[in-house]
Amino acid sequence: MNDSMGRVIDQLREAERVLVITGAGISADSGLPTYRGVGGLYNGHTEDGLPIEAALSGPMLQLNPALCWKYLAEIGRACVAAAPNAGHKAIAELQQRKPGCWLLTQNIDGFHLAAGSPPQRLIEIHGTLWPLFCTGCGRSSDDLTGHLSRPLPPRCDHCGGVLRPPVVLFDELLPEAGLNSLRAQQTQGFDVVLAVGTSASFAYILEPILRTRQNGGFTALIDPSGGELARMVDEHIAAAASDVLPQLVRHIFPD
Ligand SMILES: [Zn+2]
Repeated sequence: MNDSMGRVIDQLREAERVLVITGAGISADSGLPTYRGVGGLYNGHTEDGLPIEAALSGPMLQLNPALCWKYLAEIGRACVAAAPNAGHKAIAELQQRKPGCWLLTQNIDGFHLAAGSPPQRLIEIHGTLWPLFCTGCGRSSDDLTGHLSRPLPPRCDHCGGVLRPPVVLFDELLPEAGLNSLRAQQTQGFDVVLAVGTSASFAYILEPILRTRQNGGFTALIDPSGGELARMVDEHIAAAASDVLPQLVRHIFPD
């Protein structure tokens, strides 16, 4: 074990208030393409000639639901075919054993919940891909897999309205409830912030890291590359989350 790992283990072992922040990198280890790049499928533009940010946007869902759903369905199919990995499970165990451990994720695949993270301490800041709900009457529909095998966009059995996932599309606002929950926890402060498989491009990721450092807490990043976020944290472990996280948890709770 190297020094960085040892330090992260010591800090996590002692910490009561912990925030784990996860991004696409953790689910990439499950073979899942990332949201924006979707495994490089798009290279910035869709086969319809639109930037992916336009195809997967709130306005496009209203204007041309079939086109928006074409790309939502690709993400949906990738998610239903994949499963949580050892990294998701290690975070769930950390949360189960540390009642002050919160999880903020950018991912929409629902893998943290599936891996056993407690829903009351999980903030899915970009929403999730299911259950779908009707944009007309609001009724929900659980059967994402079934809808993906039928013509798109999926329609409501009750009113015929277009169904959509409770996900934050481009040009849509982040969920107020999630942001409020994050703010409330941030106000109480964190002893440790651990970012996993993410980059620094969002304020809601940068802020807890910078504030925690200012308040004398400890921050770390687990990501093979790291980018600009690597220079903002106390320790950077340049490795895959699905390798590192289970090792961390094994050392923190050796029994
Ligand atoms: Zn409906």
